[in-house]
Amino acid sequence: MFVGHLGVGLALSARSRRFRLGTLLGAALLLDVLLGAFVLAGWERVIVPPDFATAHYLEFVFPYSHGLLATLVWTAVTAALASTGLLLLGRGRAAAWVAAAAVASHWVCDVIEHVRGLPLLGPGSPRVGLGLWGTMGWALLLEVLLLVGGAGLFLRSRPGLPRGRRTVLLLVLGGVAVLQIVSQLAGGEVPAARVLALTWIVQAAALTVLGLWADPVLSSPAGSPPAGRLP
Ligand SMILES: [Zn+2]
Repeated sequence: MFVGHLGVGLALSARSRRFRLGTLLGAALLLDVLLGAFVLAGWERVIVPPDFATAHYLEFVFPYSHGLLATLVWTAVTAALASTGLLLLGRGRAAAWVAAAAVASHWVCDVIEHVRGLPLLGPGSPRVGLGLWGTMGWALLLEVLLLVGGAGLFLRSRPGLPRGRRTVLLLVLGGVAVLQIVSQLAGGEVPAARVLALTWIVQAAALTVLGLWADPVLSSPAGSPPAGRLP
């Protein structure tokens, strides 16, 4: 899953103006950033299945980025950082919970789509996956619905968002959705694992920066009213 994760980040950001969109887009994509880093390090693997030309999905060996146990650890670490105010979500319980929800949602969303499944514990442990990628049209429809729903909630929560930032945000989100649909339906040659890994890292970083720029609400301490907007 890709743009579906962005939809979840958008929806969580809509819960409060203190919850910066960029942070929550990055948190929703965190497990894929870790996957990219671990593939580059040689700790995790991307597998091109024999029927890729017709099935159009990849398989992974990724217990440290996408295992349930690992996800709980990454979720706890992110929540701890958020509670201190380091992640531009305010600070305290609300910040910790929204950061935790963004990271943990990634595992749930991926379980729905992945065919090979996500490990519960470490390497070689049982895997869970509902395999929606087996019917790619439905998988992509789910992702688009999540994205559109999240974007709708986000825009409704930010009525004062400058028009230019809103337009750029929507254009980029629409663009990445179209790119994902085209690439996932087309199949074709799969880039080298290192290229895929770098792509996951760079696109998450770019979307985080875009989100921080597009949603310029200043963070404020828990309990105080939302801070003012940048010009
Ligand atoms: Zn993932």
